[in-house]
Amino acid sequence: MRYISTRGKAPVLSFEEAMLTGLARDGGLYLPETIPTMTEDEIAALAGLPYEEVAFRVMWPYVGESFAEEEFRGIIARAYAEFGHVARAPLKQLAPNHFLLELFHGPTLAFKDFAMQLIGQLFEAALKRRGDRVTIVGATSGDTGSAAIEAFRGLDAVDVFILYPHGRVSEVQRRQMTTPSESNVHALALDGHFDDCQAAVKDMFNDFDFRDSVGLAGVNSINWARVLAQVVYYFTAAVALGAPARKISFTVPTGNFGDIFAGYIARRMGLPIEQLVIATNQNDILHRAITTGAYKTDGVSPSISPSMDIQVSSNFERALFYAHDGDGAAVAALMDELKSEGGFTISQGALESLRETFASGRVSEEETSATIARLRAETGEILCPHSAVGVHVAEQHLGATPMVTLATAHPAKFPDAVEAATGIRPPLPNRMADLYERDERVTRIANDLGAIEDLIRERRA
Ligand SMILES: *Cc1c(COP(=O)(O)O)cnc(C)c1O
Repeated sequence: MRYISTRGKAPVLSFEEAMLTGLARDGGLYLPETIPTMTEDEIAALAGLPYEEVAFRVMWPYVGESFAEEEFRGIIARAYAEFGHVARAPLKQLAPNHFLLELFHGPTLAFKDFAMQLIGQLFEAALKRRGDRVTIVGATSGDTGSAAIEAFRGLDAVDVFILYPHGRVSEVQRRQMTTPSESNVHALALDGHFDDCQAAVKDMFNDFDFRDSVGLAGVNSINWARVLAQVVYYFTAAVALGAPARKISFTVPTGNFGDIFAGYIARRMGLPIEQLVIATNQNDILHRAITTGAYKTDGVSPSISPSMDIQVSSNFERALFYAHDGDGAAVAALMDELKSEGGFTISQGALESLRETFASGRVSEEETSATIARLRAETGEILCPHSAVGVHVAEQHLGATPMVTLATAHPAKFPDAVEAATGIRPPLPNRMADLYERDERVTRIANDLGAIEDLIRERRA
C-alpha cells in the first residue's frame, strides 16, 4: 500500500515511511492511496474472534509490504498484552439499543492506548531493522501524551518529548506523564493552550533543518498508523451486535477527529455503519461545521472534558479530502484560508458528502455533569466527562439502528468532574493505585519555538 498526502504535493510513501514521518512535507496528512474493502463474508467471519485476530485481519492490507506477517502478529500481541480486560474493547448495554464501547482498559486508561501501544511496537520493530533513531515530539491535551510516554518509555531508538498546556490537564494525566523515570521520556509543561502546543509541534515539523537534524517523528492523532489502529474496534463492536447483517451507528466524543475518522475508514472498508455522530463539548467547531458549513475558529474554553478542548480539529482535513473526491489542491486552498482567515466555508457539494456519513451534537458543561449523574442513577455506570458528552449526543440520535457510544476514558482519570457530578470519587484500578505517591519530573517552558527546539536538541540522547 502506498500513502499520499491530503494536499497532493508530498512524496508518496510506504506504510513504514508514512508512520515514521507523521505530517507530510506539504503540510498535509497521509492517507492510503486506495481503501481496501472487506466482503460481507469476511466481515461475518470476524464474529467471536479474539481482538488481536480481528486487528490483524483489518490492518494487514494497509501494512503488508512493511512488515512480515509473523512480525506483525507479534507486534499486535505485545501491543495489547498489558490491557486490563481480556476482550480489550468490551461492550456494555446502557439502554434499549444503546451500547457503550469501553476503550479505557489500557495502561493509561484512555482509548489512545489502542493506537499508541501499537505504534510503540511498530516504531521499535521498524527502527531496529533500519538501525535508526528518532525524536518523537507530540502535543497533548492530556491523554495522548500519557499514552505516548507509556508506550515508548525505555525504548532504545526513541526519545520522546511531550508538550502539554500547563495547568490544563488533570492530575492523573499529568502524573502519568511526569512519573515515568526512564531517561528517554520528557514531559514539557508549556505556558499556553493545547492549540499552542499543537501549533509548536506543527512548526517544528515545518522547520526542515530542525526536523532533519533531530530525526523528528510524530505520533499525534495525525499519524496514519494511529488512525488505522482505531479502525479495529469499530469492527469488533459492530460484528458483536450483528453486523454485517445489521447496520450499526456510532457516537464518538470528538476533539481532533482522529477516533471518529477511523470509523469513517471502517465504513469505507465495507462495515455497514449507518451514521457516525460527532459529539463535541462547548468547543464545538465540528458541530458548527456540520450544521452550518462554516468551519471557523472561535478560541478555546476550558471544559470538564479537556481532551476535547480544541480550536482546530486536525484530522478533519482527511474527511475534507474525501469530501472533495481526493482533490489535494482544493484541500490545500482551504487550509491556507484557515491559516490566514481563521476559517472557511465548506462547499455545498462537500457538505452534502460529509452529511451522508456524519451527524453531530454539542453538549454544555451542565448537560455533561447532569448526564454523568443521571447515568449513574439509571444504570450504575460511572462515565468520564468525555464519554458523557458522547452519551448525551447519542441519546438524541437513538432509533431503530443499534447505537454504540465510545467511552474514551476511565472515570478515575477525571475524578474531580465525576465527584462533582455524582458525589463519588472513582478509584484508580489496583494496577496503578500508587500513582499519587510517585515522584514527578517535568520542565516548564514558554510558548517560544526557539526555546523548545533548543531544549530538545540538548536533552536528546
Ligand atoms: C483524545 C480524546 C478524545 C478525542 O479524540 P479525537 O481522536 O481527538 O477526536 C476524546 N476523549 C478522550 C478521553 C480523549 O483522550
